[in-house]
Amino acid sequence: MTIIPQQLAAVRERLRLACEAAGRSPDSVGLLAVSKTFGPDAVAQAMAAGQRAFGENYVQEGVDKILALRASHPGVALEWHCIGPLQTNKTRLVAEHFDWVHTIDRLKVAQRLSDQRPAHLPPLQVCVQVNVDGGANKSGVAPADAPALAQAVAALPGLCLRGLMAIPEPSPDVESQQAVCERVKAVFDGLKGVSPQWDTLSLGMSADLEAAVAAGSTLVRVGTAIFGGRERATAA
Ligand SMILES: *Cc1c(COP(=O)(O)O)cnc(C)c1O
Repeated sequence: MTIIPQQLAAVRERLRLACEAAGRSPDSVGLLAVSKTFGPDAVAQAMAAGQRAFGENYVQEGVDKILALRASHPGVALEWHCIGPLQTNKTRLVAEHFDWVHTIDRLKVAQRLSDQRPAHLPPLQVCVQVNVDGGANKSGVAPADAPALAQAVAALPGLCLRGLMAIPEPSPDVESQQAVCERVKAVFDGLKGVSPQWDTLSLGMSADLEAAVAAGSTLVRVGTAIFGGRERATAA
């Protein structure tokens, strides 16, 4: 027997409690199930428990899963989010198969995604990734550079700019988690109006979703707490 449905239920309960503690409506925060390194069978188990939005880090692995699930579950509409760093040579696959990209940190990548988005699909929904805690080799644009990038991205016809994404450095301390999350929220609020659909703050993972919800996240990305620990690292 799989434990994915139980773990998913436990994450939903954590989210509900976090919203309650923050005085927020439980439906104000979406749950992205991060299925990277897990196979289509794990995704199918989460689907059976009602989950529809999934996040993938590695492009080819994600595309393989998207196609496998479409074949095994025709008629179930899933939403696929690319949440890994994106090289320019992978943009076409992403533009053709994913619904969302959270990791826009360069205009060049955004332009290619916009140009390569097939005309029969709705615009690709995107977030700009911001790096608020300065990890040197971490992706994401500096907060000072976020407005110019967001403005340029908002003008691209194949994309719909929805908000910001961030990956704070892991910290065991809830107060410092929350301080970083609040900095991300401040950047998010400062950019309000840059796009007509500026409504998504993609923030919070298994270890810090409570802090993220307290700070105003609208979409948490949870892998480990739903699917279990990841044993293997897949090549990008
Ligand atoms: C892997 C990953 C997650 C999920 O992390 P967990 O700690 O397993 O919940 C969320 N966001 C991004 C960008 C990731 O790469």
